[in-house]
Amino acid sequence: MLADKDRIFTNLYGHHDWRLEGARERGGWVGTKEFIDQGRDWITNEVKSSGLRGRGGAGFPTGLKWSFMPKQSDGRPHYLLVNADESEPGTCKDREILRHDPHHLIEGCLLACRAMDAHLAFIYVRGEFIRERQRLEEAVQEAYDAKLIGKDNVHGWDLDIIVHHGAGAYICGEETALMESLEGKKGQPRLKPPFPAGMGVYGNPTTVNNVESIAVVPEILRRSGAWFSSIGRPNNVGTKLFMVSGHVNKPATFEESLGESFKDIIEKHCGGIRGGWDNLLAVIPGGASCPVVKGEDMMDAIMDFDGMREKKSSFGTGGMIVMDKSTDIIKAIWRISAFFKHESCGQCTPCREGTGWMMRVMDRMVQGRAQKREIDMLFEVTKQIEGHTICALGDAAAWPIQGLIRNFRPTIEARIEQYTYSSTSDGAVPSI
Ligand code: NAD
Ligand code: SF4
Repeated sequence: MLADKDRIFTNLYGHHDWRLEGARERGGWVGTKEFIDQGRDWITNEVKSSGLRGRGGAGFPTGLKWSFMPKQSDGRPHYLLVNADESEPGTCKDREILRHDPHHLIEGCLLACRAMDAHLAFIYVRGEFIRERQRLEEAVQEAYDAKLIGKDNVHGWDLDIIVHHGAGAYICGEETALMESLEGKKGQPRLKPPFPAGMGVYGNPTTVNNVESIAVVPEILRRSGAWFSSIGRPNNVGTKLFMVSGHVNKPATFEESLGESFKDIIEKHCGGIRGGWDNLLAVIPGGASCPVVKGEDMMDAIMDFDGMREKKSSFGTGGMIVMDKSTDIIKAIWRISAFFKHESCGQCTPCREGTGWMMRVMDRMVQGRAQKREIDMLFEVTKQIEGHTICALGDAAAWPIQGLIRNFRPTIEARIEQYTYSSTSDGAVPSI
């Protein structure tokens, strides 16, 4: 498990001063100029050697993504766009960085911009994060006042930071919708390719990174890429902010090493499962778009990218939603279906029509008012949506239902049988 000395976010719970002075006392803004002076390639290579994978959910290697930015100038400005539009249900980690450790992010922006020859960073903050945005703006102003950023700053790399406040749409967290929204247009995803490094904000080379991915960069450079990659296991390295909600004794957000077992993490940070381990029904391991995994399959699960793939799910944001046996699992997944239907931007047909279709079938399945053959039909609908849409929201809507059918088919069938029996015997609808 992660040793205290290896923690990056030492003010996660806001027990210390979040301001510049407090950040400096905790080791922030130390050595920054030397890192800038080492140049673009050194920073990128160090981040590559750290093995850092994007912390927003997709796990794309961060250093590799930075290296896609053009090396030769064609006259277009380069931008960093930090995605602080954290909206995935079950996910609440970037919020804590904005609240309690904003200088990690600001220093990370400076270093990342040096690595990408950028002099302007946008931080797009989720619409509902009002106090978080205010705190970030205060911290950015502190950095300007102390000449840590801005023109002719002490680090010798000019940087402006613009904090942009979103309007509260989940889809604007998708990186191309984020750019559309930032440009003042309707937040609808663009087709990829071109990827943002080729054509991003205002048609200029842009890298979009998650808050946590950028906020860990200063410590990676201070302690070395080798230090970061020594934590965890191959392909799944470093420390990570995890979030656990639902039926554990102590829901929490905390920093832990990748590569640890689900059981150890829950015991150490959350005081175990409510009612004991025998009471665990299911877990959604990394935010609502990840397929649900049966409780018994989580007993030997490793909480990282490869560990969750082995369980036919995905690690996503590390936001675990834990459900005990009191949960109506069909209703829980129906609720997620309703969420994705609501948040679909409506641009492509399989997602616009499919999310509504799935939600309506799920609605009947919650009550048992379905036929057993519809379970396979529903699965087939998810397959028609998966991979056939412009952005990942279509997949995100399909996967939880696939996980439900794969893991809980007998529960769905039993609900249908119960309804059929009750409605044919005395006409009563079973209470659920
Ligand atoms: P993705 O795999 O399409 O892309 C991940 C990143 O890698 C993107 O920045 C993309 O531009 C880049 N990339 C991928 N292939 C590339 C290539 N060939 N060349 C250049 N760059 C390339 O995933 P995504 O759609 O960006 O994200 C999906 C994930 O987002 C889901 O797994 C979900 O867990 C997560 N998510 C997170 C939140 C949140 O609040 N944090 C919300 C919704 C979804
Ligand atoms: Fe919009 Fe859904 Fe298509 Fe994404 S998949 S572009 S959310 S309609």
